[in-house]
Amino acid sequence: MERKGIKIIKADIKEIVKQLNKALSDEWLAYYQYWLGEKLVRGKFREEVAAELGQHAGDELKHAGMIADRIIQLGGTPVLKPEEWYKLTNCGYDAPEDPDVIPILKQNIKGEQCAIEVYQKLAEMLKDKDPITYLMVLSILKDEIEHEDDLINILEDIQ
Ligand code: FE
Ligand code: FE
Ligand code: MG
Repeated sequence: MERKGIKIIKADIKEIVKQLNKALSDEWLAYYQYWLGEKLVRGKFREEVAAELGQHAGDELKHAGMIADRIIQLGGTPVLKPEEWYKLTNCGYDAPEDPDVIPILKQNIKGEQCAIEVYQKLAEMLKDKDPITYLMVLSILKDEIEHEDDLINILEDIQ
C-alpha cells in the first residue's frame, strides 16, 4: 500500500538514503574510535576523559540506530557490510595510535568538527523537503555540537 509518509517527501529518496548510509558509516567508525579511546587513554585527567569518551561512544551508537531506522522507514537498506563503512564514510577513522589524552582529544575534536559539517549540509539539503529526516538530523547535529564543546572544554582544562 502507498505510504503517505513517503509521498510527502519532496526530494530524491534514493539520494537521501545514500547520504544517510554515508552518515551511518561515519557513526559506526566514530563509535569504535570513542569506544577504543575510552579503553586506551592515558595521562592527565584520564578518568574524566575516559568517562566522556565512553558517553560519546554511546551517543554515536544511538545515532547509528536512529539513522538505520530512518533508512528502513524510507524503504532503503542500511549498509550491510562493515567493509563498506570505509568506502562510504565522510569523516574517516583516526586510529588512536597515541593513547595520550591530548592526541586522543584532538582526534575526536577533528571527528566532531567533520560530523558537524556533514549534518549541517544534510540539514540544508533536507529543509522544507523531508521534515522528519530533517528533524532527526537536527537532533544529531545538536549532539555533535555538544560533543565538540565537551571535548574542547576538557582540552582547555588540561592545557
Ligand atoms: Fe554521531
Ligand atoms: Fe559525536
Ligand atoms: Mg559529552
